[in-house]
Amino acid sequence: MINFDFKKSLGQNFLNDENIIDKIVKASEIDKDTLVIEIGPGAGALSKKTIPLSGYTILYEIDTRLKDILEDVLKENDNYEIIFNDVLKQNVAEDINKYSFKKIYVVANLPYYITTPIISKIIDEISPDKIVVMIQEEVADRLCAQVGSREYAMITVALGSQYDIKKLFRVSRNCFIPAPNVDSAVISLEKHDRYNIIDKNLFDKLIKEAFKFKRKNLRNNLKGYDLNKIEEILTRNNYGLNDRAEVIPISLFVEIANELSK
Ligand code: SAM
Repeated sequence: MINFDFKKSLGQNFLNDENIIDKIVKASEIDKDTLVIEIGPGAGALSKKTIPLSGYTILYEIDTRLKDILEDVLKENDNYEIIFNDVLKQNVAEDINKYSFKKIYVVANLPYYITTPIISKIIDEISPDKIVVMIQEEVADRLCAQVGSREYAMITVALGSQYDIKKLFRVSRNCFIPAPNVDSAVISLEKHDRYNIIDKNLFDKLIKEAFKFKRKNLRNNLKGYDLNKIEEILTRNNYGLNDRAEVIPISLFVEIANELSK
């Protein structure tokens, strides 16, 4: 691996710390009833420990230069396939439909330049039961942000409406080859069904608009909606149109979207 020409443009920072790899594997709780998806296996540092625990694993890797290395590292396993393609261009739902396992988990050290598009695509397309991923710490803090905090954003609400998100542990930049410019964190997302969102498109559009201009309040950002109705819902929950989206809890966004969809 020392001689490998790492491509920064592909987010190639490979894990080089067995202790961290073991912590990710433990947190993921993979068993033989689990179909595992890994995006960006790199040289297989994580895959070589997760595949033997899984029922089956599908790996997506964009860089075909890793083919021989991966096949060699994983040669003792027969319960996996590697799809050499950009995961964002791949029909993941179609790939997993060939298999029938009780649970679908995503376990990965994600390429940082496309962390959010990958997580969003995977959730929209296959709605996995659990996701354990290493991402940039700054993004981790946004995804796990508490309502009212500066980091609380549209993506916090979008993911939190379907998943319980936890920051599990920080990972120093020194645990990678080559070392990235930022520290990382491992997060877990576990599916919940706390909210019954009647019209998902309306909910997605509403939160996108609500957070559109960070400094503007709901009255300004939600101009295109029935503001009387929204005000009524906000008021009975002790909020108002002068509040900004960052103080509105997920449950209240769901309540507003559901009432607007009636
Ligand atoms: N899992 C390995 C590890 O932990 O050592 C490598 C992780 S590295 C942060 C990210 C990996 O994602 C690289 O192997 C890179 O080639 C791959 N990758 C980057 N963009 C990708 C894409 N669009 N689709 C699939 N894989 C991608």
